[in-house]
Amino acid sequence: MIDKRHLNNLSDIVGSENIYSDKAHLRAYSYDATRTYYEPDAVVFPRDEEDVSRILTYCNHNKISIIPRGAGSGFTGGALPVNGGIVLAMEKYMNKILEIDMENMLAIVQPAVINKDLQRHVEALGLFYPPDPASEEYSTLGGNVSENAGGMRAAKYGLTKDYVMALRAVLPNGDIIRAGKRTIKDVAGYNIAGILTASEGSLAVITEITLKLIPKPKYAKSYMGIFPNVEMAMNAVFKSLANGANPVAMEFLDSLVVKAVKEKLGIDLPKEAGALLIGDVDGNVAEEIEFQLKVLEESFRENGVQEFRVATDSKERDLIWKGRRGASQSITIYGTKKLNEDISVPRSMLPKALKDIYAIGEKYGLVVPCFGHAGDGNIHVNVMVDGSNSKELEKGHSAIKEIFELVVDLGGTLSGEHGIGLSKAEFMDIAFKPSELELFRAIKRAFDPNGILNPGKMGL
Ligand SMILES: Cc1cc2nc3c(=O)[nH]c(=O)nc-3n(C[C@H](O)[C@H](O)[C@H](O)COP(=O)(O)OP(=O)(O)OC[C@H]3O[C@@H](n4cnc5c(N)ncnc54)[C@H](O)[C@@H]3O)c2cc1C
Repeated sequence: MIDKRHLNNLSDIVGSENIYSDKAHLRAYSYDATRTYYEPDAVVFPRDEEDVSRILTYCNHNKISIIPRGAGSGFTGGALPVNGGIVLAMEKYMNKILEIDMENMLAIVQPAVINKDLQRHVEALGLFYPPDPASEEYSTLGGNVSENAGGMRAAKYGLTKDYVMALRAVLPNGDIIRAGKRTIKDVAGYNIAGILTASEGSLAVITEITLKLIPKPKYAKSYMGIFPNVEMAMNAVFKSLANGANPVAMEFLDSLVVKAVKEKLGIDLPKEAGALLIGDVDGNVAEEIEFQLKVLEESFRENGVQEFRVATDSKERDLIWKGRRGASQSITIYGTKKLNEDISVPRSMLPKALKDIYAIGEKYGLVVPCFGHAGDGNIHVNVMVDGSNSKELEKGHSAIKEIFELVVDLGGTLSGEHGIGLSKAEFMDIAFKPSELELFRAIKRAFDPNGILNPGKMGL
């Protein structure tokens, strides 16, 4: 608990209208998409970078924890104040698109700009910002950079990190730093922007982001491959990509997810599908699209696809995508709580990974519907349990641990896009050796010797 004196001093920095310590506001800033609750001592809204610097200087001096927060849509508890302290809420003021540089094709934004707002803004100018997490309508670019968010288009266009050219950030001691430049190439000095990307608010507070933009492709078409089983679908993923297919997206739904989507949302997906692969191809000329679809269809046929569909109009396109968009909410038919992980493996390991994940589910008597970004080797694995049954929760937890061990054995890792935060902190030693964890801790100490920024996260 921080005392009244600190609240008064912080109020002097940002103005009393920009600091909350009443019960209702503390509650409102106490949770994220993990639905776990930790109340902060106060919520502070910085008006600009100078405010961020003054707040951090004060908190560092007084050893008060600071938890940067975007939209609070994180899936791993990154924005939760586990030991109290100050939630630094960026959304009220630091939400402006500062510049679009058409000649150098880049955008400069404040951290609380909503992802989709930037996409819409640049698309109106003929440009394109590809990273599109499913939370794009509300998650912030500061949160996206801090988690290195991915999305449906990552198979072709990559992750948030592939678009971060430069950052401005405030260190815990209040120093304002610049990392990166407007240049495409920059190999002078350490890649600090790279270290801050995916640092989950544990090293510095990001105050400005320079993002690469690309020209908006003119045409896109959607496809769906209906496979008899998961193994064939997973073989088709890595083999079609190795054959030269370059789809924007290659998303996967297993038969449990297909059943759930049909039952819960009444969406008309192929009844007997053992697995679906769906996605888009895009390009600037029709021939490019036709070529991509041909490579995909041929590769899918070599791997046992039962049916390959291409949407002929926007209605069919919506239908193809509706099933994927409804996946996460539909699988609640299998249990009141989903232990939702986003493992990542080399794509050629997908068939074995999925086979063994289902076997782990069976061993514990738990249903494990899987879906996600197969084109990136990144699968959302959902261990479904009865949330009111402590024995089942325990079993779920053991199953998750085994799944992480399996994934790491296959050359993969704990998270492809949601980060470590609080939820996966205890599993870090499965993925990293003690010397590697110590290197992480040394980096943390170099940025934040007093440990005030987002303490208790990432197993550090
Ligand atoms: C329905 C749903 C779908 C989702 N789909 C996807 C998806 O497809 N792909 C994906 O990658 N994620 C997805 N997510 C997870 C989440 O939306 C992303 O992790 C997103 O990037 C978080 O952004 P946010 O603004 O909500 O950040 P928050 O949740 O507020 O914070 C996330 C982390 O970033 C830190 N942070 C935030 N702002 C700053 C800053 N300015 N400086 C330093 N640190 C900061 C926080 O401390 C925290 O550690 C989804 C979430 C939901 C609820």
